[in-house]
Amino acid sequence: MDLTAMEFRELITMRENIRHKVDLLEVCWSCQKVSECRQWLVNGSVPVWLCDECVEEVAYRMTDETGIPLSLTASGK
Ligand SMILES: [Zn+2]
Repeated sequence: MDLTAMEFRELITMRENIRHKVDLLEVCWSCQKVSECRQWLVNGSVPVWLCDECVEEVAYRMTDETGIPLSLTASGK
């Protein structure tokens, strides 16, 4: 199979995109699904992985259960 230079570059870009997506995949600590999670810091210290859908719910639930106001901040990663 002969690839033109452009097709070759597209393949490389595609491969990089896939690699980037795979890097983002984590098991969400709340719903246990593998999805694009972000690392959050609970009260600035404990790192947890949560998908976008769970972030608000978890913050609310943990505050409710512990009675301690809890903050989730996006980690730098
Ligand atoms: Zn989740």
